[in-house]
Amino acid sequence: MKKSYIVFALAGLLSAVPLWAQESYDLVLKGGHVIDPKNKVDGVMDVGIRDHKIAAVAPSIAASADTKIVNVSGLYVTPGLVDIHVHVNAGTAERDSYAGDNSVYPDGFTFRSGVTTVADAGSSGCKSFEDFKQRIIDRAHTRVLAFINIVGAGMRGGKFEQNLADMDVTCAANEARKFPDVIIGIKTAHYAGPEWTPVEHAVQAGTLANIPVMVDFGEFRPERPYEKLVTEKMRPGDISTHMYLDYVPMLDDQGKVRPYLFEARKRGVIFDVGHGGGSFLFRQAVPAIQQGFIPDSISTDLHIGSMNAGMKDMLNVMSKFLNIGIPLQQVIEMSTSHPAHEIKRDELGNLSIGSDADVAVLRLENGKYGFVDTYGARMSGDEKLTAEMTVRHGLIVWDLNGLSRDDWKGQGKYHALGSRKWDGTLSGAIWKR
Ligand SMILES: [Zn+2]
Repeated sequence: MKKSYIVFALAGLLSAVPLWAQESYDLVLKGGHVIDPKNKVDGVMDVGIRDHKIAAVAPSIAASADTKIVNVSGLYVTPGLVDIHVHVNAGTAERDSYAGDNSVYPDGFTFRSGVTTVADAGSSGCKSFEDFKQRIIDRAHTRVLAFINIVGAGMRGGKFEQNLADMDVTCAANEARKFPDVIIGIKTAHYAGPEWTPVEHAVQAGTLANIPVMVDFGEFRPERPYEKLVTEKMRPGDISTHMYLDYVPMLDDQGKVRPYLFEARKRGVIFDVGHGGGSFLFRQAVPAIQQGFIPDSISTDLHIGSMNAGMKDMLNVMSKFLNIGIPLQQVIEMSTSHPAHEIKRDELGNLSIGSDADVAVLRLENGKYGFVDTYGARMSGDEKLTAEMTVRHGLIVWDLNGLSRDDWKGQGKYHALGSRKWDGTLSGAIWKR
């Protein structure tokens, strides 16, 4: 009896934090399980945000009375997700085009699935990038970066994307060097001819601008084998997207992953998911992952053909890998610090002190779920990630169940609640990135 009293008194003494130790934050996410792979954080922590930046990650943050505190216990707190393969060049009114109707507006799809940064994968080229930037990149609340297409006209469909004469190395490299803040790579995609020219020109432009190339290999043809692409043509750091596509020669007749894929990885070629509407098969992915051929990065290839089909959204794609057997920590790493590193933006995809406060608060649900691949095959699973809350640049931009809100009862004759210090969803809220 006496002993427990002493312990109690001691605990009281330790928790009596002096006033000077209480810091002022704009927002504190309290009691969540933080997974920040880059900083090797994996445990229950508070996350403090001040002036749009991560100000503290600690077991217990003593916050002053003016701090907005949100209890996120029982949830996972991760860096805002980084999706490096999307198509968001919407609004040009061009039919059947990824530089038009096949694209979506980013803010309508990102925050609701925990994504705070996307990279458009070649929907624009050197001749159309500035229009894309002005219409989308500069206006979106999502951080939008871009791989520009080696095709000057961008991803406008058949006749444009097959036009070798419009794959101008100098034009692409110069545009990338003109906008180093937003152009993070060169894309080549959808080419159907026998020539290596699109890949070679993309690599030349990427070398001149010192940025990676993302390859969608288009039609797989015997004149230019995929094996040669990843073992010879691509540079270390270049990204092969659509890694679990049907046409990738992945498994031999015995179902074993072909050794050249591991050799390509060893020489530094990056393998990215790029799920999309036609590029992810369980019969490729499951055996490959079981044998260790896992993704470097998870990306969606978000567009109108994938968003309502098997892909759905970033968290649905991440949940597939979780159910195939990749541990949660690794799935988060493949969706945060890894993709950020691939596009040479190591300041993104982590919760380091001083970094822009982009945070995802995720719920890992248990139940009976189904996942669908791009040929329409189903896989059962018992775990699913959903986004409870998303913070972008220190502001709550998605709050599924109103965790940050007070009950309406007791608010009196209330008008707009919230504060511009932490609320990015206030009607008419305008905030600068
Ligand atoms: Zn794509």
